[in-house]
Amino acid sequence: MLDVALLGTGGMMPLPNRFLTAFAVRQNGRILLIDCGEGTQVTQKMLGWGFKTVDVICLTHFHADHAAGIPGFLLSMANSDKGDPLTIIGPVGTEYIVKSLLVIAKDLPFEINFVELPYEKKTYHINQGGFSIGALPVSHGVPCFAYSVSLARIGKFNADAAKSLGLPVRFWGILQRGENVSYEGLEYTPDMVLGASRAGLKVTYCTDSRPIPSISDFAQNSDLFVCEGLYGDPALSAKAAEHRHMTYKEAANIAKRANVSEMWLTHYSPSVTNPKEFLGVARDIFPNTHTGFDRKTATLKFSEDE
Ligand SMILES: [Zn+2]
Ligand SMILES: [Zn+2]
Repeated sequence: MLDVALLGTGGMMPLPNRFLTAFAVRQNGRILLIDCGEGTQVTQKMLGWGFKTVDVICLTHFHADHAAGIPGFLLSMANSDKGDPLTIIGPVGTEYIVKSLLVIAKDLPFEINFVELPYEKKTYHINQGGFSIGALPVSHGVPCFAYSVSLARIGKFNADAAKSLGLPVRFWGILQRGENVSYEGLEYTPDMVLGASRAGLKVTYCTDSRPIPSISDFAQNSDLFVCEGLYGDPALSAKAAEHRHMTYKEAANIAKRANVSEMWLTHYSPSVTNPKEFLGVARDIFPNTHTGFDRKTATLKFSEDE
């Protein structure tokens, strides 16, 4: 199970009723945050998920609307008595940018580890803080990454197979967790009692970028795809391209090609006062499109079948 929350949905600058785009994923009570524009600490406080269990922050790129909230957010984490380490993932230069911002937020009571991703044509897989994270370089004029968070699901436990092994019941749970068991001189492995692995959960977040083909491969079969829609109005598509962003229509085409289950739009231009106005443009292409709004949440669950 993954809980997700869109903390803000604005691009460029925060508005009185719209925070800058940021997205949180919670798994077993631990939180991964993607992007941290100015004011992210306020909307996180309003959401009520707390700061103490934020273990990972992924930065898409270094534009202020995605990174300028770091000092305040980390000070809120310090005030929550966080003591265990924080990992910050982002393009090369993340450590320099974050440490520069933290000149005004010194003496944090937790350690910060940095993972810097070279901006190369490859997809990264990072296991950090219990999260399985993917990162894809996208096209925004500056090094920028889309991120995915996946939760694998092991195969169904086969009690008959476990019984036929003659292994006492007290060991079954260990195998079910994917660990080996040694008993009376024999080694038992999870594949002896587990069926084929089942579809897990995947959520993908992409902003800011032009709609390059690799995004749909990266987001393939996501349960939730959160994607920027700077403008809904198709008449503004040239303007979106000029600033290395994308429109609702372009986002919907990616969602369709990626065969995702659901898409939420985010990162609206401040000029977009009613995000729903052009929702139909996206839904004509990808029907299960929804306009994101600040603190829109969902719980993604494994499907009931098998
Ligand atoms: Zn932006
Ligand atoms: Zn940007």
